[in-house]
Amino acid sequence: MRPYNSALVFARCVAGGLGMALDHVFEHIERCRDAFIERLCAYLRMPSISAQGIGIQENAEFLVSFLSGMGLAARLIDTAGWPLVHARRDDVPGGPRILLYGHYDVQPPDPLDQWVSPPFLPEIRDGRIYARGAGDNKGQHFANLLAIESLLAVDGALPCNVIVLLEGEEEVGSPNIAEFVRTHADLLDVDLVVTSDGPVHDSGRQTIEFGVRGVADFELRAKGANRDLHSGNFGGVAPNPIWTLVHGLATMKNPAGEITIDGFYDSIVPPTDLERDAIAAMPDGTAKVMADLGLSHLDAPQDRPFYDRLMAWPTLTINGFHGGYDGPGSKTVLPSEAFVKCDVRLVPNQTVAEIHEKIATHLRTHAPEIEFIPGGGMDPSRTPLDSPFTDPIRCAIVTATGEQPLLVPAMGGSLPEYVWTKILGKPAFVVPYANHDERNHAPNENIEFARFLNGIKIGAALLTELGGRSTADNLG
Ligand SMILES: [Zn+2]
Repeated sequence: MRPYNSALVFARCVAGGLGMALDHVFEHIERCRDAFIERLCAYLRMPSISAQGIGIQENAEFLVSFLSGMGLAARLIDTAGWPLVHARRDDVPGGPRILLYGHYDVQPPDPLDQWVSPPFLPEIRDGRIYARGAGDNKGQHFANLLAIESLLAVDGALPCNVIVLLEGEEEVGSPNIAEFVRTHADLLDVDLVVTSDGPVHDSGRQTIEFGVRGVADFELRAKGANRDLHSGNFGGVAPNPIWTLVHGLATMKNPAGEITIDGFYDSIVPPTDLERDAIAAMPDGTAKVMADLGLSHLDAPQDRPFYDRLMAWPTLTINGFHGGYDGPGSKTVLPSEAFVKCDVRLVPNQTVAEIHEKIATHLRTHAPEIEFIPGGGMDPSRTPLDSPFTDPIRCAIVTATGEQPLLVPAMGGSLPEYVWTKILGKPAFVVPYANHDERNHAPNENIEFARFLNGIKIGAALLTELGGRSTADNLG
């Protein structure tokens, strides 16, 4: 066993050692269980659909008055889009400060006819609350707000300094968060960022997620003649833009699964030993995923372990290919143009700008007739597993739930975590509270009571762990 593992297994959990104080907070949370569930339901009755501009301002104002009422200095911050809710409380001068990030906007509820109960009339069934936003993200950030409220109710002060930042545009791609972080470092004077969003591992284990893959979109276009042509009268005369794209794409990835864009892998930093150990310790879900997806084999290369695919390697995915005729029967057309949309999932230290530039350069050399149109993207993000904050977070989860969390070096998907790690320059962690079948973005979104209440306890234990360590270990 590596020293890292034994350190994690045997490290002291300060909150557990502080004992009584947190016990009283947990008792308070248990006592308030029904009231907390009812208050979450009331919050879920407020629609806040950023894509449609429904209820956003009202929701943001509700949060400001809730946070102010709890004794935080709370306010709305205007952006080019929907406002941010910012609140802070400084009970421990010179102590560590945590940023709790979440988002108060939700996805549109469509298709409405697939909901068992209406999306904005929360219903309780089988130990779960069903409503749009129950898991993504109201149930999760509300748990953190109730953790603050519970600590204040029991102790009258928070064990560490806190900033709460709730965004109203996450579900439309967070178009303004990077600019806000770039220009408001003074409002973000924190030591670490914790986001509670997404589901726990599908085994049910709590997780701490240390990073995300990035994503870079792009489109390729090819043109042939100035109009569609008869494939007999002009076949062999005018070039076919679909073949142009097929040949160009074939220079970008080979059948062995290697991405052959010139210099594509050059900036990649391989996983650290700690990350390798953590990836190897993930429960192997290959057989379950293959059965679920009806796959007879995984994507090339075959010998790559399951979680290496999602965490350690970039991808090049063709999202859609369009050109010519695909209707019923046949049509012997020689099309005049063709398009392909692609995305690249990025790993450290690849960047969106670098990969767009490399694709452009590659195409100029290997397929100059193809037009390259870069799209949007998000850089990857990674926080080291041996961050000084790993142990307080891990201990908080153990103290609140009695269970060791899985340490997940990166998620396969993308979140704008780079705004914390790269722009703000602080370690960032995702600690999800929702059940793995929360059905976020889909009909019948839900959160289990037990996970919501665990979230409140984890939040309270986390602030206590950070505070306890600041005096015990001079952390931060
Ligand atoms: Zn979402």
